[in-house]
Amino acid sequence: MKLKTILISIIYVLVIHVNSFAQSTNLKIEPPFWWIGMNDSKLQLLIHGDNISNYSVKLKYDGVEISQLNKTKNPNYLFLDLIILPEAKSGKMEFVFKSKGKDIISYSYELKTRKNNSKLRPGVNQSDIIYLLMPDRFANGDTTNDNRIVMLEKANRSNPDGRHGGDLKGINNNLNYFNKLGVTAVWINPVLENNMPNYSYHGYAITDFYKVDARFGNNQDYVDLVGDAKSKNIKIIMDMVFNHCGLNHWWMSDLPSKDWIHQFTEFTRSNYRAEVLMDPYASNRDKELMNDGWFDHSMPDLNQKNPYLANYLIQNSIWWIEYSGIDGVRMDTYPYSDQNFMHQWEMRIHEEYPNFNILGEAWLQYESQTAWFQNQALPNRSATYHSIMVTDFPLSYAINSAFNEQDGWTSGLSKLYYTLSKDFLYNDPNSLVIFTDNHDIDRFYSTQHKDFEKWKMGITFLMTTRGIPMIYYGTEYLADGKKNEGDAQLRKDFLGGWPGDTINAFSQDGLNTNQMKAFNFLQNLITLKKNNPSLQTGTLKHFIPVDGIYTYFRIGNDNAFMIVINNGNEAKKVRLNNYSEITNNYRSIRNIDANEFDKIPPQIQIRAKSALIFELK
Ligand code: CA
Repeated sequence: MKLKTILISIIYVLVIHVNSFAQSTNLKIEPPFWWIGMNDSKLQLLIHGDNISNYSVKLKYDGVEISQLNKTKNPNYLFLDLIILPEAKSGKMEFVFKSKGKDIISYSYELKTRKNNSKLRPGVNQSDIIYLLMPDRFANGDTTNDNRIVMLEKANRSNPDGRHGGDLKGINNNLNYFNKLGVTAVWINPVLENNMPNYSYHGYAITDFYKVDARFGNNQDYVDLVGDAKSKNIKIIMDMVFNHCGLNHWWMSDLPSKDWIHQFTEFTRSNYRAEVLMDPYASNRDKELMNDGWFDHSMPDLNQKNPYLANYLIQNSIWWIEYSGIDGVRMDTYPYSDQNFMHQWEMRIHEEYPNFNILGEAWLQYESQTAWFQNQALPNRSATYHSIMVTDFPLSYAINSAFNEQDGWTSGLSKLYYTLSKDFLYNDPNSLVIFTDNHDIDRFYSTQHKDFEKWKMGITFLMTTRGIPMIYYGTEYLADGKKNEGDAQLRKDFLGGWPGDTINAFSQDGLNTNQMKAFNFLQNLITLKKNNPSLQTGTLKHFIPVDGIYTYFRIGNDNAFMIVINNGNEAKKVRLNNYSEITNNYRSIRNIDANEFDKIPPQIQIRAKSALIFELK
């Protein structure tokens, strides 16, 4: 027995030795593969391995050259610059790492062929209705992946801040639901690995930028989801995070260089005041805290001024676009990253994908700041750079207040009016992404004190004013939740997404009357918007709110829509001759609930606390 054990050991050592030359398992190279035929011929590989910088690298592959070998102070890293010439063919190239004249390690690296449709992505635009969902909280399509041995946090649905088991399969299983509701693009909160001990469900503490979290599925599941969604005319927007990574990211135990992340003698938090970017009196201290401070204890702040990290992030983003076929990127905490770097990233994306959209999260308090961000932080905007969209928080604040307030010079509906009247500040107000709520702020139904009539007024406004509307999952069945009771209250499990759920919002089983009405209400508005370009790109013309009535028009080539909102507590008669500058151009009118067009009457009636939509022809 002993001899047998020794023999097996010898064979084992020999096999390991031979294998270590054939293909090293100790090396990590990122991106894990790349493509031929990219517009930018450059590629920089991050290579991590024991004392790898002591090696020289040899490559013999037609059309690919090593242009430079870069070292950092950490000998375990090499940053290898390659040029991939147009004549290079797809295939596997072999890097040989040599030391003292001997070949020590070999590594096979694949160059793939680009997909044919790479340049043809239509992008997200004003014809779209975006649906935002949190993958851990939407639908559990595969209960066998809820727990993984290597994943630190296990599923615990009784913990509001725990992982609940939702996954990519759950989203894929319900693509027909998105079609039924009518939304055309789905923004999915981050899906990459978050191997953190707790509070990992939100996905914003990424521990591997090239790997889908195993509790959501795998990379191929993500590719399949994007492809399956596309076949049902649904675009997928990927949530990316460049500002920070998770504390358990693999490189945190062996950083390429001290300046890979922002480091302080003690934990230093960001001041979360993106306003310092445009504040003419901002102190350097506040600017530095904003940019360099950590988002949280579990989220080290990445230093995008480090050129190797900058390349890493840009290539990572391009890798996911090319690999998965996504239609857009939502960039988390956009103003928190180095802005010069962000512009460089945008240019690289648009160089590769001219129609591609980036939705920048800019959580700014006022219109002026949001506009500054859209206009100045994106200076390279031009005909070919049309695809930068920015979150419109100021309009969200206005929508949330308007229907709860008595109308006055600056209150109630005037909030909507004043917010939109400041659109002169924006280069492109129509590309703003508008919303009543999202995963970080109070649920709209809660801010409206669970008043269904107010909810309908808000949703009507959202679906008919300028901008690209975004619906937060659960809105369609009046989900509620207040942030001061914890973020988890805003991110409850979608009803019916889990085996055994007694209420199922996908099939509408068990929903109450108002919940079903809410779904139909939103579904009808989405259909109306999709069928009428005037509600997508039509000119907006509005009238100063008077006496609790706000009236505005969306004017297109074939028709126009008149939206009237009564925020008062009494029914009103509204005289249409006030709007004759528009109505005179049309012959007939119909309430969108009616099939027939009629002559335009001198006045219309509107109930208290309600909104009406009319089509003019
Ligand atoms: Ca699952």
